[in-house]
Amino acid sequence: MNFDVVIIGAGPGGIFAAWQLMHKRPDLKVAVYEAGQPLHRRKCPIDGKKVRNCIRCKTCAIMNGFGGAGAFSDGKYNITNDFGGTLHEYIGRDKAVELMHYVDDINMAHGGEGTTMYSTAGTSLKKLCMQNKLTLLDASVRHLGTDINYVVLENLYSEMKDRVEFRFMTPVEKVEKLDNGYRVVCADHSALCRACIVSVGRSGSKWMETVCRDLDIPTKSNRVDLGVRVELPAVIFSHITDELYESKIVYRTEMFEDNVRTFCMNPRGIVVNENTNGIITVNGHSFEDESRKTENTNFALLVSKHFSEPFKDSNGYGESIARLSNMLGGGAIVQRFGDLERGRRSNEKRIAECTVRPTLAATPGDLSLVLPKRILDGIIEMIHALDKIAPGTANDDTLLYGVEVKFYNMEVQLDENLETCHRNLYVIGDGSGVTHSLSHASASGVFVADRLSGLL
Ligand SMILES: Cc1cc2nc3c(=O)[nH]c(=O)nc-3n(C[C@H](O)[C@H](O)[C@H](O)COP(=O)(O)OP(=O)(O)OC[C@H]3O[C@@H](n4cnc5c(N)ncnc54)[C@H](O)[C@@H]3O)c2cc1C
Repeated sequence: MNFDVVIIGAGPGGIFAAWQLMHKRPDLKVAVYEAGQPLHRRKCPIDGKKVRNCIRCKTCAIMNGFGGAGAFSDGKYNITNDFGGTLHEYIGRDKAVELMHYVDDINMAHGGEGTTMYSTAGTSLKKLCMQNKLTLLDASVRHLGTDINYVVLENLYSEMKDRVEFRFMTPVEKVEKLDNGYRVVCADHSALCRACIVSVGRSGSKWMETVCRDLDIPTKSNRVDLGVRVELPAVIFSHITDELYESKIVYRTEMFEDNVRTFCMNPRGIVVNENTNGIITVNGHSFEDESRKTENTNFALLVSKHFSEPFKDSNGYGESIARLSNMLGGGAIVQRFGDLERGRRSNEKRIAECTVRPTLAATPGDLSLVLPKRILDGIIEMIHALDKIAPGTANDDTLLYGVEVKFYNMEVQLDENLETCHRNLYVIGDGSGVTHSLSHASASGVFVADRLSGLL
């Protein structure tokens, strides 16, 4: 065998699996195969001047490479079983939270010290939410910020690079099962290993499907989240964000009894474009560095759409809606809440006169031409509900950017060890469909590494 363990993907799942194996079993030969570049070489060519739109690089510097999809993220590590994945359903609630804290300790020891941990424990906001038909989910949130998140990744890599074999720009094409392990096949070579951990994230989801098909691993898929990103003056939400930084608030709509929830809150942050396979959606960032903070706060309002048989392509549905906004706006669309409620599009003049200064140059337009009515009605209802706990949320000048889509991977059938039906073949992180966050993906990596440390 070339390696004891091959890890496919160097996102948080793969990184923490490698880090844990390196410490627990330094005698094992571990390799990490990664489709993208090392962290310092990850540079998106879009500069807003010469290159304005996605030129479809062979590997996307934003999604692929050391650090995975989270490398340039806001670095919010949510320590909770209430959202971010269903890891606890496999490994137990206490274990999941214990491992998330463990990951936090490692991050703190690698450059994260001094960053803030926020918590919902004992907050009076919980009662205020309940009084207004809103539910505040329990969590502790470590906010690294985009800048510190990058430093932590740099430090983890420099500690690992001489003890774990990293193979960058080496996408794995196939995983073949052998009698005593696996053959990992790339374009110009292959490697043998006793155990294989697949951690390919969302960008590897299509490839993951082929692996499951080839190896007869059962899967299911039926969910996509759709909505908008809300941007408003930071002071409107400051009593919430100063205390909790990121709050996950859920509202059950009166009209359809759908759940609408806040997602990815960025106090004094910016709204950004996100490019998924050439489709432009929106997302948000914020920074620890005081000089990069803005006067606005943004967060997403999302509605989950679960499909039933015979429809299977939930991500395709989300993509089609995002494409519609791209068709109308040439990219993301921005609309004032007041314009949306009055049934008219926002135009350049109305956005220019708006008291909220947009942090993303999106095309003024009409989101009601893009989002299904049921989803938009739910979002409007929730904005009015939030207005009761944060007066001003439903102001006419509140900006809505669309669309925000949260794609989910198909769920790979795994046992309580995150092992597939094939011995020593594990699937972790977002590529498994079990996790959809930094903390859960990282914890799943530690979990499997601990198991293999005892087995190999
Ligand atoms: C803009 C943005 C902001 C985010 N902000 C947050 C946040 O603040 N908090 C939070 O909890 N979550 C956030 N997320 C989500 C978070 O980044 C993911 O949940 C997390 O990165 C998942 O980790 P992972 O290791 O499972 O997969 P990924 O991070 O996606 O890593 C997978 C890696 O596998 C590689 N790969 C794929 N296929 C192959 C192959 N065939 N061969 C070799 N390598 C392959 C990819 O190149 C990639 O580097 C954000 C995501 C984005 C896009």
